[in-house]
Amino acid sequence: MTSSARPLLNRRLAEFGTTIFAEMSALALKTGSINLGQGFPDTDGPEEIREAAVRALRDGRGNQYPPGPGVPELRTAITAHQERRYGLSYDPDAEVLVTAGATEAIAAALLALVEPGDEVIAFEPYYDSYAACIAMAGGTRVPVTLRPHEGAFRLDLDELRAAVTDRTRLLLINTPHNPTGTVLTREELTAIAELAVERDLLVITDEVYEHLVFDAAEHIPLVSFPGMRGRTVSIGSAGKTFSFTGWKVGWVTGTPDLVTAVRSAKQFLTYVASGPFQYAVAEALQLPDSYFDAFRADMLAKRDVLATGLTEAGFEVFRPAGTYFITTDIRPLGPELSKNGDGFAFCRALPELAGVVAIPNAVFYDHREAGAPFVRFAFCKQTGVLEEAVGRLKSLAG
Ligand SMILES: *Cc1c(COP(=O)(O)O)cnc(C)c1O
Repeated sequence: MTSSARPLLNRRLAEFGTTIFAEMSALALKTGSINLGQGFPDTDGPEEIREAAVRALRDGRGNQYPPGPGVPELRTAITAHQERRYGLSYDPDAEVLVTAGATEAIAAALLALVEPGDEVIAFEPYYDSYAACIAMAGGTRVPVTLRPHEGAFRLDLDELRAAVTDRTRLLLINTPHNPTGTVLTREELTAIAELAVERDLLVITDEVYEHLVFDAAEHIPLVSFPGMRGRTVSIGSAGKTFSFTGWKVGWVTGTPDLVTAVRSAKQFLTYVASGPFQYAVAEALQLPDSYFDAFRADMLAKRDVLATGLTEAGFEVFRPAGTYFITTDIRPLGPELSKNGDGFAFCRALPELAGVVAIPNAVFYDHREAGAPFVRFAFCKQTGVLEEAVGRLKSLAG
C-alpha cells in the first residue's frame, strides 16, 4: 500500500491498462477455447534453424553480450536479404541495428526521433504498441482511419494529407497491415512518399509481415521510393517470417544518422538481446526462396480455410492480402448474436457460446465506434485447429 494519493501509473501510460490479449487468453484457458486471438503460430519454424540456435548456444556464440549493433553475421545477412529481395543496399556496419524484436525497434525509433508535442500519424486500427510508445515518447498520436471499401480496408489519401500539420514529425506506416490484412499498393506508397518529401517528414515502416503477402499483392518497401532513403527507418523481424516469435530478433535499417539516433535510445532499453538466436536468424535469412514460397503457400491455404469457414458461419470476411489475421464484420450474424454489432461484447461471449477466442478490433482504435463491429481472428494455427474452430463457429448460426 502506498501512502501517496497520486496514481502509481504515470499520466503518459494511464490509458494503457492491461492488454486485451491478457484478458482473452485467460478466458481461453478458463473455457478451454481455441485461441485465435493472439498472433503466434502453434508450430515452430524450420528444424534446421532451431538446430542452428542450439549449435550457437553450445559453441558459446552469443552467450555473452553480443556487439551493440548486433552480431556481424546477422547484420550481413540482413543487408544481403534486402539486396536479394528488393535491390536495396545497406552498409552492414553503419546502416543496420539488431533489436529485441520489432517491438523494441518501434519503441527505440519513437523515443529517439520524437520530441514532446510532436505529432505522429499512424493508421487506425493500429498495432497496440504504437499508441503506448508514442505516449512514452511524449508525442501526440494522430490516427488516420482505414475504412472498409469493396471488401478491404483502404487508406483515404486525402484524409492522410489533411492529417499533416506543422507539428507532424513522422509517419508510422505498417504494411502489410495488422489487423486488417491490407497491403498498400504502389500508387498509395507513391503518394505517401510524395507527401513525406513535400512536408519533410520522417517515416518509420513496420514491415514484419513482408513475407506474408497473398494473391496479387506485393510488398514494396516505402524506402525504395524517390526521396525516402534519407528519411525512412525500416523495421523488420524474424518472429513472423520464421515462426519463432519467442526469439525476439528484429532489426532497423536506415542511413547512418537514423540508425545512430535509434541506437542511442535502444542502448538504454535492452542494450543487446537474443545472442545465440541472432546467429540462427542469420542462417534463416539465407534460406533459399523455396522456404519463403512454401511458408507463404502454407499460410495462404490456412487463410482460405478460415476465410471460407467464417463466411459460411455468417461473418462478413475481409479477405486479407497479407499478414496472418482476418478481420470480420459481425453484424451479418444478426443483432442478437452480434450483440448489436458490439465487438467487445461479442468477443467476451464467444468463448462460452462457441469455444473460440477472437479479438475486438475496437481496442486498436482511438475512434472506438469506427471499429466497433470488427473482430479479428488469427489463422497461423494448424489446419486441424482452424477446421475445429470453423466447425464450432458454424454451430453458432445454428
Ligand atoms: C507482431 C508484430 C510486431 C512485433 O514484432 P516482434 O518482432 O515480435 O517484436 C510489430 N508490429 C506488428 C504489426 C506486429 O504484428
